[in-house]
Amino acid sequence: MQYLSTRGQSPAQSFSQILLGGLAPDGGLYLPECYPQFSDADLTRLRVLNYRELAFEILSTFATDIPAADLKGIIDKTYTAQVYCNVRDGDNPEDITPLHTLEPSLHLLGLSNGPTLAFKDMAMQLLGHLFEYVLAKAGQGINILGATSGDTGSSAEYAMRGKKGVKVFMLSPHGKMSRFQTAQMFSLQDANIFNIAVKGVFDDCQDIVKAVSNDHAYKKQYQIGAVNSINWARVAAQIVYYFKGYFAATQSNDQQVSFAVPSGNFGNVCAGHIARMMGLPIKQLIVATNENDVLDEFFKTGVYRPRGSANTYHTSSPSMDISKASNFERFIFDVVGRNGTQVRELWASVDQGGAFDLKASGLLNKVADFGFVSGSSSHQDRLNTIRATYETYGLMIDTHTADGLKVALEYREPNVPMVVLETALPAKFEESIQEALGRRPDRPKGLENLERLPQRFEVMEADAHAVKQYIIAHTSVGS
Ligand SMILES: *Cc1c(COP(=O)(O)O)cnc(C)c1O
Repeated sequence: MQYLSTRGQSPAQSFSQILLGGLAPDGGLYLPECYPQFSDADLTRLRVLNYRELAFEILSTFATDIPAADLKGIIDKTYTAQVYCNVRDGDNPEDITPLHTLEPSLHLLGLSNGPTLAFKDMAMQLLGHLFEYVLAKAGQGINILGATSGDTGSSAEYAMRGKKGVKVFMLSPHGKMSRFQTAQMFSLQDANIFNIAVKGVFDDCQDIVKAVSNDHAYKKQYQIGAVNSINWARVAAQIVYYFKGYFAATQSNDQQVSFAVPSGNFGNVCAGHIARMMGLPIKQLIVATNENDVLDEFFKTGVYRPRGSANTYHTSSPSMDISKASNFERFIFDVVGRNGTQVRELWASVDQGGAFDLKASGLLNKVADFGFVSGSSSHQDRLNTIRATYETYGLMIDTHTADGLKVALEYREPNVPMVVLETALPAKFEESIQEALGRRPDRPKGLENLERLPQRFEVMEADAHAVKQYIIAHTSVGS
């Protein structure tokens, strides 16, 4: 399997070649040259597999340049009940992504049972093992530089801790993350993890990452890499749980299922789109946003109009506070019939802070053919949904999952099971749970005293040069 750029001007590459990189040289995102197809007979064969077996069947169609036995070994050590152990009472950790039924035809798919209690662990844990494998083969190392306001950074650190050939330098705004998130990251004692608390806000951290990445000579010499949400392997890993969720919610392949997906960068729901393109019987893909509703606006009007940071709201579902959906270009590539020239034209205005309108060009009708619908929610909606879910089903959900459930209920259809993706556990967002329910969420076992563990971090000024020097001082690569 070869990978093409959505902008049509980069040479085709293999899975391992694009694994460690970010954007294609022409500024586009990589996608497989075609989507593997799963027939009815294939689905019947896959239906009875456990998570690891299913992941192998799906990922081996994408990672064709990794020998099957090696890929199997990587998957088998990633998707274990020990890694994804933070399940609710009554759920089986061997399921990896347990399906929790609220009422007939309404389910939650538990994707947040990994070490950082958010769905990003589903892909990031695999990425950690893949990076280590590919780097060892090439005799290389990588220094991952990232900026985080919470979920991504901790998920990356827990995936990369102790991995040979990998160092992680993670910038976060000093004193601005929740106590839980701070403790989760800063309590890691692994020698290859470096937490840098920047005196500034998240945008300052992001600007430093951009400045370092734009220094091409430095980037090359010190092997600076990233693990952001446009990474193809992350999207590929996420395809697996759409299949798993589909099988768990149906008895036979003639049933369709709808998925509701709390969305920000469009990475999670992009995996759902690809699963549907591969032949999984998905009826609707429901994109749920919070007040940062740039995606909801697109699916309702055909206008894609990313917003600046001044118009990005800080909400109680903070991992969706995104106003430029970095994976969206992958979907649009399919909408325009995989025409790279057309994608380049559309993004010529987006990349300059502008917008595009698919209604005007008659393409909005095509968007509907892909099963997408959307909705958004407010802080009050989230509190109401958390409260109603607790009162009706005795189940506590987090604010992001609440966004998904709120919109899911607006699109329920008779005889079509609805699966809401649970993208974080409530323990991560104590303040909002307290506000909704007047009590704190339960913590998974072993995390009760997280905030009391010793913390390891460096406080630095918001200064790209200082960060560069820090990386040089803490890495032997390139020196
Ligand atoms: C990252 C994240 C999302 C958004 O996922 P995308 O792939 O960016 O659309 C939703 N919920 C939680 C809890 C997250 O961490």
